[in-house]
Amino acid sequence: MPSLPAHAWHGHNIWCITQATLELPAFLDAWAQWLADPERPRLLHVLAVAATAPSHSDLQAAANAQPEHTGLIDELSAQCWGLLPGMHRLRLSCRPVGGQLLLTLCVGPTTDFAAWLGRHPTGPCNPSTALPPQGERSVTVLGSGIAGASTARALAERGWQVTVLDAGSTPAAGASGLPVGLVAPHTSPDDSPISRLSRAGVRAMQHAMHTLLQAGTDWAPTGVQERRLPGKTRKGGAPHSWSHELAEAGQAWTCAAPPPAPPNALWHAKGAWLRPARLVHALLQHPNIRWQGQAKADALQAVDAAQGTIWQVLQDGQVLAQSARVVVACGPGSAQLLASAAASTAATAAGAAGAAGAAGADGAMADDGAHPTDTLPIRSLRGQISWGLMAEVATPTPAASPAPGASTNTRHTPPQTTHLALADMWPATPVNGNGSFVHSVPTEQGLAWFAGSSFDRVNDQPVVLPADHADNLARLQALLPDTAQALAPLFANGVRGWAGVRCSVPDRLPVVGPVVHASEGLWVNAAMGSRGLTLALLCGELLAARWHGEPLPMEAELAQALEAKRFNTRKTIRP
Ligand SMILES: Cc1cc2nc3c(=O)[nH]c(=O)nc-3n(C[C@H](O)[C@H](O)[C@H](O)COP(=O)(O)OP(=O)(O)OC[C@H]3O[C@@H](n4cnc5c(N)ncnc54)[C@H](O)[C@@H]3O)c2cc1C
Repeated sequence: MPSLPAHAWHGHNIWCITQATLELPAFLDAWAQWLADPERPRLLHVLAVAATAPSHSDLQAAANAQPEHTGLIDELSAQCWGLLPGMHRLRLSCRPVGGQLLLTLCVGPTTDFAAWLGRHPTGPCNPSTALPPQGERSVTVLGSGIAGASTARALAERGWQVTVLDAGSTPAAGASGLPVGLVAPHTSPDDSPISRLSRAGVRAMQHAMHTLLQAGTDWAPTGVQERRLPGKTRKGGAPHSWSHELAEAGQAWTCAAPPPAPPNALWHAKGAWLRPARLVHALLQHPNIRWQGQAKADALQAVDAAQGTIWQVLQDGQVLAQSARVVVACGPGSAQLLASAAASTAATAAGAAGAAGAAGADGAMADDGAHPTDTLPIRSLRGQISWGLMAEVATPTPAASPAPGASTNTRHTPPQTTHLALADMWPATPVNGNGSFVHSVPTEQGLAWFAGSSFDRVNDQPVVLPADHADNLARLQALLPDTAQALAPLFANGVRGWAGVRCSVPDRLPVVGPVVHASEGLWVNAAMGSRGLTLALLCGELLAARWHGEPLPMEAELAQALEAKRFNTRKTIRP
């Protein structure tokens, strides 16, 4: 690591230190120096390549050699799990110093990461497009689900004044208002992009949930069991190497679930349940964020101003907000707003061409011939959860052994639940695989169970439908037959429901990037599909890192796979 004059980073909000090979002593010294400096940058990136992940004994040796850094080594050690070959973002010292040290650790041969290291030399970061000067950075984020709140938080932490507008009267008025959901990695034998992305997402979420939320109330680090049921389209399963040469790092993520789970079930140790609205509220709690509800945007309009394009957010022709940068994170509502933005850009371009005497009948076509409203192929996907209070469920009593001398021929038929052990009825942890089941989640009315979720591509309204309760019960019967048996009477009479609308694009990856066919400054962060709780925070961080020219929180190839423009080149990436 190059030695750093103490004052080099003064006056910079974001600073980057590059280590071609991870040297723990130099890294720890830089971290301590940053902590001790009252004029430290708010974000300190450290990029380092390690041929193999730091082992327990490496960290122990560092602690012995530098006892003054024991606290830092403990914090680092706590995050050194699951470091498979590839890129990992470890978030350090977030509390109580006000700032973050982001260690991006690349595990594998240095040659694989050489170009990447070269792009981020030690020093300030270089944004690819000019940012307004510090103090003049304001942005409008549309939508305050988990995607909008994550974006707002990531930008606020980088000094932006963020106005968040939402159609609802509270944050998390859309799909992110779901009462409880699962955060869990996706696995695939070939470790596909969505699998790698989901791990980066889970790591980011683990950190956010630990630092911003109350465990046991807002979320719980339970782990998640995944059952692999016949008839599922996805092959599933972890890469072969995770049982062999990469066993330690791989199994920190996913391994065979221990009995009594079925033999092919998986165990995701870092899985969790989350009440996402709690996280949304916590993310929005930042002095640089202003939230405004009942603010449904119906159009976006690009206006030329002296300092460049300004985006106006319109409702019934009135301007709700305006700024040079706008991020659309409206879930299923995003498509319509993006189409209006593209139409506005095309109209402006046609007007300019017309004024120059060059507009043809086709003046509203974009440069590449695509129609301006041909934006993102976002599709709605309504879903419903069935739930109830645990106190309402008949508690199974253990099958009593006959009293001494009692006749064994008694023709007593016990109630249906009596042969169920409590553990069969309430699995030890959340289970997913064909829908999901979670229990012991605290709600205002008491501890609750949740079974879900349905998938409905026809009805795009968030309404609770009896047919979906039946679907959820059928799914539960396949997933956890004993639980389904115990809950069936409640499904027949008195089950509660919650419905929301997810949205996705055909390759089922999120969309994060500048909007094509629109003037500069308009970005999108949407299409989280069924994995928004795992991916949205990471996507918000990606967007902010791109604006600031920072090292990305994921491999460049994955960031590219999320680009909004991928649909315009007609190239899709297999999830
Ligand atoms: C039943 C169900 C179960 C699910 N279970 C899981 C799970 O277990 N794990 C998981 O990871 N994911 C799960 N999901 C998916 C997850 O909820 C979503 O991926 C995630 O919440 C999407 O977040 P978002 O911020 O992109 O969108 P949303 O949460 O929908 O937020 C969009 C926001 O934009 C606002 N808005 C919309 N239009 C406008 C407009 N024109 N102007 C202003 N504001 C606007 C809305 O009011 C809303 O607040 C589930 C979804 C459902 C429906």
